[in-house]
Parts: sequence; C-alpha cells; structure tokens
Amino acid sequence: NLTQRLAKVVKTMRGEARLTEANTAEMLREVRMALLEADVALPAVREFIAKVKEKAMGEEVISSLTPGQALVGVVQREMAALMGADLGPEATQLSFAQQPPAIILMAGLQGVGKTTTVGKLAKYLKEEKKKKVLTVSADVYRPAAIAQLKTVSGQAGADFFPSTPQDKPVDIALAALDWAKKHYHDVLIVDTAGRLGIDEEMMKEIAAVHGAIKPIETLFVVDAMLGQDAINTAKAFNDALPLTGIVLTKLDGDSRGGAALSVRHVTGKPIKFAGVSEKLDGLEAFDPSRMASRVLGMGDIMALVEEARKGVDAKAAADLAAKVKSGGKFDMNDFKAQLGQMKKMGGMASLVDKLPAQFQQAAGGANMDQADKQVRRMVGIIDSMTPAERAKPDLIKANRKRRIAAGAGVQVQEVNRMLNQFEQMQTMMKKLSGGGMMKMMRAMKG
Ligand code: GDP
Ligand code: MG
Repeated sequence: NLTQRLAKVVKTMRGEARLTEANTAEMLREVRMALLEADVALPAVREFIAKVKEKAMGEEVISSLTPGQALVGVVQREMAALMGADLGPEATQLSFAQQPPAIILMAGLQGVGKTTTVGKLAKYLKEEKKKKVLTVSADVYRPAAIAQLKTVSGQAGADFFPSTPQDKPVDIALAALDWAKKHYHDVLIVDTAGRLGIDEEMMKEIAAVHGAIKPIETLFVVDAMLGQDAINTAKAFNDALPLTGIVLTKLDGDSRGGAALSVRHVTGKPIKFAGVSEKLDGLEAFDPSRMASRVLGMGDIMALVEEARKGVDAKAAADLAAKVKSGGKFDMNDFKAQLGQMKKMGGMASLVDKLPAQFQQAAGGANMDQADKQVRRMVGIIDSMTPAERAKPDLIKANRKRRIAAGAGVQVQEVNRMLNQFEQMQTMMKKLSGGGMMKMMRAMKG
C-alpha cells in the first residue's frame, strides 16, 4: 500500500537539503508501483511520473520544509491537475445549445452505466436546471434496454420517446429530435447500445448517430472499476467521436479509480460527473482533488507528512510502547531516545505543556527553559556511560558517577539530578500501558 511505501521513503529522505534525481528516484518508484496497483494503465503512469519529476527538480521544492514533503506536495498537485483541477469548476458544467434542444449523446461499453446515467442526468437537469427533458433509446439490440430507459425516465420526471428494435438508430435519433423541437424540450438525451468489447460496427453506428444529430455534448461513460482496459476503450471512443466530456461511474465501489487517470491521459477531456450509486440521485459534479487523493491514497499520505513535520518518529514510539507493554525495562538508551524526541518536538517547555497533568510534575517542575538547556547536557552524560551502565543504571554508584561526570565535563550533582529524572521517567513509563504510551505520544504531537 502506498502509505506504507511512502512512510518508509519519507523517513529515509528526512534531513536532506533538497530534491535531486538521486533522492527522489526511490520515492518515484513507489508512486509508480502504487499507481500500477490502482490499475492505472502504464502509459498514463509513465507520463505522470515524468511530469512530477520535471516539476520536482524545479524551483517549487526549494522553500519547502523537507524533501519528502516537497515531493508529496508535487505528486498531489500534479495528480489533481491531471484530474482536471486546473480546468476550473466550469469544466464540469454541461453546455446548452443556443437553439434548443441541447442534445446529449451517451457513449460507452455495455454495462458501464449509460442508461442509469441518462436517468440521473434527466433528474438533475429537471430539478436543478429546470429543463424540460426528453430521452430516447437507440439501443435496438436489447428490447429490455428500451424498457429500462422508459422506467428511469419516468422516475426522473422526464418525457420518453418510444422506439422499437425494428428501427435504425439514426432514424430513432432523428425522429426524437423532431419530436423534441415540436414539443419545446430544452434537452434531448440519446442513449445508445454498448457492446461488451470494442467493435467496428458499434463505432460506425454511433458515429453515424453523432453525424445525424450533431450533439452539443458527447459524453463517454466509463466504469471506474474497469482497470487497465479503460485506456483501450477510451482510445477507441475518442478516435471515433469528438467527445466533450467523461462520466465516471461506480465510484461508490472500492476501486481506487485508476481508470480516471487512464481516460484523462488518452482523451484530455474533462471528467464532468461521477456516478456514486445505482439510484437516480447518485450523480455528483466531478471533484479532481478528491479523485487525486483517492487514486493516490493521499489522505493517509498527508497525515504522514504532518507526522514527519512534527518530528515524531512513530516507529520509535511504537517500539518503545511495545517494549514497555511486554514488560521490558525502560533504560538509559530509551531515555536518551526520548530526550532526542523532545528536542525535535520543540523542547521540554512546549512538551510538558502537552503532557497529562499528573505527569507534568514528574517531568521536572518549574523552570522548563533551563530544562531545555539541560537536555543537551543530559545527553552528554548518557554518552559518557558504558553500554552496561545504560542498560542497567542501578550499577551507577559513587565511583562510576565521578567517572561519568568527568567524561561529560559536569559536576557530580548534575549526574545525580539526571539519574533522578531518569527514575521519575522510568516510574512514569511503568504507569503507562502500551496504549497509554501511544496516547501520550499523540498528545505530545498536539
Ligand atoms: P449500460 O449498459 O451502460 O446502459 O449500463 P446500465 O445503466 O444498465 O447499468 C449497468 C449496471 O450498473 C446496473 O446494474 C446499474 O444499476 C449499475 N450502475 C450504473 N451506475 C452505477 C453507479 O454509479 N454505481 C453503482 N453502484 N452502480 C451503477
Ligand atoms: Mg443501457
């Protein structure tokens, strides 16, 4: 999963000054893998990675906090742009002809949700846009398809122009257009047949319908669960018809929606709507940023970056929690790691503020600014200890204290004070269960 992959990489990249070919290579490899796992077609993945690389090596990263965050930021921005964020909200609007009726032609494979989407659009146009809508089915291969359109049109409150399997699709479309003109419909939506796969005859047929009625909108309907095949289907329809937009259906499923990226890559046309349920109110204006997050698993990634920013090493916290929970003893090495974390998180003063009240006292008392200065000295003292002493501080008696003090360049009292604080911390750790430990670390993060 992308979050886990990036967690690793963001961590290893921490501390580097800026993005380079070398330090982004691994992260970009992970992004690439994640996109392939989300079923984005390879050419679309390649183009995306190249774009991110180009942007990442530019000026945008220089002012950023860490290279890892900068790259995640670029990845998200580019993905949103690719989904159509730069096109603006107008991109999701339908066009209406100057001279009614505005004709909308639906295209796409069988089972992707064309007929359902006609019903959804009819309902939306009637209720939100106050349009008088007529629907017609040019699906002459399946009588059930015509009946299905009649049903959803009725539910949507739209008028339905009947057709029969004996008619030709072009004739059906023209007859419906004639009817719409005579009855002052604002919009005519033409549903079409879809095959299970792309075939020449189907493409010729829909192209002929398009040529006869000259729709202002030709919407390519694609199933978000389609995966790798989305790219070939999109290419075939895009070559056969001047598409004006895309409807991405079945986004309520658990697919990552990699098809969105593939279809955008091939057609360059805006994704106007998202289908989010089988019901007629399950249609939404397409949201590029949200889709970008979905394809990348970005919600999780942003949380991860935030965590990196706060400087909390989640793994260290988890390791320590596990150790305390399993009855392991909190030793000087742990204490030193804790002190290091505290420094990263803005010093003792800010840290103690965030501790639960019962631990504030234990953490050292009044003068936290001084405590901050002491942290560095404390680390120095721990560094002067032998590994045996760190693992088992009980060993540290008068002789050893003198040696440690001399090694760290401090007075013996300071060694005593440090050992005191260590003991308090050790007591505190004992009181905390594993869960409590994690809770405390989270509280510290603010
Ligand atoms: P068509 O062959 O392209 O006309 O596809 P249909 O409109 O007949 O839809 C095929 C199936 O997909 C039906 O069972 C629909 O209820 C279902 N469907 C269509 N759109 C959506 C959607 O956005 N979400 C879900 N969950 N199902 C959908
Ligand atoms: Mg249909």
